[in-house]
Amino acid sequence: MSQPKVFVTRKIVQAGIDRLQNEFDVEIWEDATPPSRDVLLEKIRGCHGVLTMLSEKVDEEFIEAAGDQLKVISQYAVGYNNIDVEAAKKRGIAVGNTPGVLTNATADMAFALLIAAARRLIEGDQYIHNGKWKSWEPLGHIGWDLEGKTVGIVGLGRIGETFAKRCYGGWGMKVLYSSRSPKPEAEQKLSAERVEFEELLERSDFVSVHCDMNEETKGMFNAAAFERMKNDAIFINTARGGIHVQPDLVQALKTGQIGAAGLDVTDPEPPSLNDEILQLSNCLIAPHIGSATTSTRNAMAEIAIDNLALGIDGKPLRCSVT
Ligand code: NAP
Repeated sequence: MSQPKVFVTRKIVQAGIDRLQNEFDVEIWEDATPPSRDVLLEKIRGCHGVLTMLSEKVDEEFIEAAGDQLKVISQYAVGYNNIDVEAAKKRGIAVGNTPGVLTNATADMAFALLIAAARRLIEGDQYIHNGKWKSWEPLGHIGWDLEGKTVGIVGLGRIGETFAKRCYGGWGMKVLYSSRSPKPEAEQKLSAERVEFEELLERSDFVSVHCDMNEETKGMFNAAAFERMKNDAIFINTARGGIHVQPDLVQALKTGQIGAAGLDVTDPEPPSLNDEILQLSNCLIAPHIGSATTSTRNAMAEIAIDNLALGIDGKPLRCSVT
C-alpha cells in the first residue's frame, strides 16, 4: 500500500527526518529560508498532511491548494496564529501543535533576555570586541538589580507561569500578572497578584509577554502602554512580535520612556537591516530561539509527527488546537 503523502516546510531535527522518511512519502523543504508562497502551494498539492512552521500562512487558499485529501496540519510550534483554524475546521482538517515540551526552554530564554538586558551584557561584549575596554570602570556599564523587584507577566499560561517561578523562587520578585482567567494555584504558590493590564504596566519593574497572539493581544504594547510603564522598566517579549507595535517600542526606547528591551521576537521577522530597532544599544534581540535546545526540538518533532500520523489516520491528535 502506498504511504501517505506529506510535505514538511523546513528541515527539522534528524530524528524527526528519519521518522518522517520511514512513515510517509515525504518531501522536506531543504533551504534555509521558507518556500515562496507559489512554491508552497505547489508542494502541498495532493498531500494528506503538512508539517508547518510559524512562517507559513495557512488560510483558505492554502487548504484549497492542498486538495480534498488533506487531513491534518501539524504545526511545529505551540503558537499557531499563522493558521486559520476555523477554515481548517470547516473542512474537517485537524490542526495540531506542540505545547508543553518547549515551556522550560522558552521561559529560560525570557530570563536570559531579562538578565542580559538588566546587566547590559551585549553592550559590554561589543565594547570589548570594538577595542574600547581600557580598564575597570567605576561608572561604566551600570545596570539594574533583579533581586526583590516587581515583575509583571502578561499571560500566565504554561510559559508565563514557568518564567514566574524563576523570578519568584530564584530572585524573590513580586509577581503581578494579567490574564483572561484567574490562576488561583499560581496565586497561592507564587504569591502572584492578578491585576488589570494598566496597573501591571504602572507597577512593574520588568514586564514580560507570554500570551498568545490573538485579536485582543495583537498590538497591545503600543505607545499608550509604553507611556504607562516606569522610565527604567525593562520590556521582554518572547511570545510574538506582533504583540508589540515595533515603531512605538523604538520610540519608547529612544526617548527614555522605558529603560531597555529584550526580544526573541520582532515584527516583522527578521527585521530589515535599516529597522531602527537594530540601532538601539538598549535593545537586545535574539533570532526567535526560545525553543532552540536539542531536547526541546526533539520532543517537538515527536509530537508534531505523532500529530501527523494520527491525523492522517483520522484519529484524535496527541495535541490538538481545537
Ligand atoms: P498558553 O499556556 O496557552 O498561555 C497563553 C496565555 O495567554 C494563557 O494563559 C491565556 O490566558 C493568556 N492570554 C490570552 N489572551 C490574553 C489577553 N488578552 N491578556 C492576557 N493574557 C492572555 O501558551 P504557552 O505554551 O505558555 O505559549 C505562549 C506563547 O508563547 C505561544 O502562543 C507562542 O506565541 C509563544 N512562544 C514563543 C516561543 C519562542 O520561540 N519565542 C516558543 C514557544 C511559545 P487564559 O489562560 O486565561 O486563556
